[in-house]
Amino acid sequence: MMEFIEIDGSEGEGGGQILRSSLALSLLTGRSFRIRNIRAKRSRPGLLRQHLTAVQAAAEIGQARLIGDSPGSLSLEFVPGAIRGGEYHFQIGTAGSAMLVLQTILPVLILADKPSKITLSGGTHNPQAPPFDFFVQTFIPLIERMGPAIRAKIHRYGFYPAGGGELEVEIDPVRSLKSFALLDRGDLLEKRAEILITGIPYDIAQREANTIRDQDLWSDAPINIRKIPSSGPGNIVQIFLKFENITESFNAIAEKGKRAEDLVRNMFRNIGEYIRSDVPVGIYTADQIMLPMAIAAVKDREPGKFRTLPLSNHSRTHIDLIRKFLDLSIGTEEEPAGNVCVSFNP
Ligand code: AMP
Repeated sequence: MMEFIEIDGSEGEGGGQILRSSLALSLLTGRSFRIRNIRAKRSRPGLLRQHLTAVQAAAEIGQARLIGDSPGSLSLEFVPGAIRGGEYHFQIGTAGSAMLVLQTILPVLILADKPSKITLSGGTHNPQAPPFDFFVQTFIPLIERMGPAIRAKIHRYGFYPAGGGELEVEIDPVRSLKSFALLDRGDLLEKRAEILITGIPYDIAQREANTIRDQDLWSDAPINIRKIPSSGPGNIVQIFLKFENITESFNAIAEKGKRAEDLVRNMFRNIGEYIRSDVPVGIYTADQIMLPMAIAAVKDREPGKFRTLPLSNHSRTHIDLIRKFLDLSIGTEEEPAGNVCVSFNP
């Protein structure tokens, strides 16, 4: 009889990551899983378009058998097959984040039998998701440190609620992954801001830029305001801090009714916390890099570790989930100041 790993989607953080990472881990380990209470802690639980696309994308590249892949479904059964690289096009059909679909399949395709070219359409700069530029500046370089080569291009920007974005990602896979120890960020080499704006008054971007210039040590930092074409209105402020050992990205998406100045000031509270902490890995990067590092530890016996800020709920939930699929030791050693060293040991 087939054995299923049983996942309760309401545990811990209770969001989409539990589902997405289960899909990736299932394909990478060949182990089947059943998940119930999908996204139980979100205001609209179950499979939304974006999650359904992630499920179908994972099933297609991994030739999986599925039960429960319908809109709104609260449970899913997933039996993985062989992973196949190649050309794929995945369309979300709403403004749901294309980046989160990519987050699901990328760790799988870096270990596929041949190169892949993926086209994804949907949202490229969404709230509560990694924006395209975070992916390019921060996440891809870390994955490339593990061996694979990845090229990502944006064809069209997509903001919530209009969507309509499109991106293309080419992946040269590897047979085995290397891991890394990322304990110090090294010296700051460059800092810059980029403001993307489309379909709303340009002076909003100028007010954001002025608020950035008001921050300590930012008065003459480069700020690039870009008016971009897009299917609907949108505005995001992005800050990139390039250190010797990592580039960290911070971002804030404008919302109706929220003042431009407050958006930037809130964002700089997080940046300040990161800068003062001295760790290399930021809050979001931490939960996203765990899965490939865990795979490298188990599959290729490559130990890895990184220092980060106190773990987010996403990170803690992710560690629990990874332990369900993989037999490895994941250490979380708390430092006196509250920062954490996360280690993956074969
Ligand atoms: P979930 O809420 O479970 O759908 O997961 C959201 C995912 O998006 C997590 O992997 C977060 O690390 C990531 N994420 C959310 N906000 C950001 C952000 N501002 N920058 C980068 N990644 C983000």
